[in-house]
Amino acid sequence: MKISDFRSDTVTRPDPEMYEAIQRAPLGDDVLGDDPTVAKLENYGAELLGKEAALFLPSGTMANQIACYCHTRAGDEIILEEQSHIYNFESGALTVISRVQPRPLKGVYGKIPLELIQEAIRPPSLHCPTTTLLCLENTHNLAGGTVLELDYCQQAYELALQNGLRLHLDGARIFNAAIASQTEAKKFAQCCHSLSFCLSKGLGAPAGSLLLGDKKFIENARKIRKMLGGAMRQAGILAAAGIVALEKRHRLNLDHQRAKKLALALSKIKPLEIDLNSVQTNIVLVNLPKMWNSQDISQKLQDKGILVSAISPHKIRFVVHKDIDDQDVDNAIYACEKLMAEK
Ligand SMILES: *Cc1c(COP(=O)(O)O)cnc(C)c1O
Repeated sequence: MKISDFRSDTVTRPDPEMYEAIQRAPLGDDVLGDDPTVAKLENYGAELLGKEAALFLPSGTMANQIACYCHTRAGDEIILEEQSHIYNFESGALTVISRVQPRPLKGVYGKIPLELIQEAIRPPSLHCPTTTLLCLENTHNLAGGTVLELDYCQQAYELALQNGLRLHLDGARIFNAAIASQTEAKKFAQCCHSLSFCLSKGLGAPAGSLLLGDKKFIENARKIRKMLGGAMRQAGILAAAGIVALEKRHRLNLDHQRAKKLALALSKIKPLEIDLNSVQTNIVLVNLPKMWNSQDISQKLQDKGILVSAISPHKIRFVVHKDIDDQDVDNAIYACEKLMAEK
């Protein structure tokens, strides 16, 4: 049976072009600062996003955590969206590494209303923590891969600047946001002090993320990367695949088209429920009736060769990526139709 893996866009395998690039890549010791392939990837990323400098890291989590560490002091408060990756899926690292207090606020399709942010920023006080950082996530994973439009990002950045905050963008899927909204990724990068993005999500590289910001910030981040044990030696092996992934970023558009097709078809299968407004990129969230359990449904789909993730008790998630083709989408639709008919 063919397995169609919709669990995440992290499950992609390197394609032949990546293996070739890995084989050809000139290597050095990146901890000593002389791996030319890592340097090439960092320069490419920095140029593409219009930031002064970039740092190659093993994961997006490390990129976000180093950014939060560099922007804050222990005891500060940082504002983030309550469904964000930094708040929910980084093993509580904020409170351990940066020793800051998170202030989660509820967003709509991933966007925290600006008035809520303004209200949450604390005035200077002997008694209160100091608000120093605002984190945004684009696209917003748990909201369904929704795009924070440029207009919103600009206003949030303006608000951060007016209040003396720094803004870090968790742009794990920033190229999905850019391509879906036909906005240059650079424009989003202009609305933050730092951003991170994943090479290992829809872009399809086996591992790695970039953190970007100004020279001084990245210099500091490089030191913290070493401290946390994230500095790697012949990392050009990974960076070579990252360069290919980045060059092929425009293929994300295909994922978006397939996700739309999948969402539209699934939305017609009763009693599945999909908020089609949230289907803007490569993620499709499916709500199940309350009497059904997402673990149980995902197990039954797995028995039919369709892997999905159960992201909450009554919600399953399909993520489309480079190793999902039209046939996989059709298989998923068929499997859901059959399962619902059986139920
Ligand atoms: C995947 C992801 C990350 C980082 O994940 P790693 O698995 O640590 O690379 C960060 N933010 C968002 C929104 C993500 O989806």
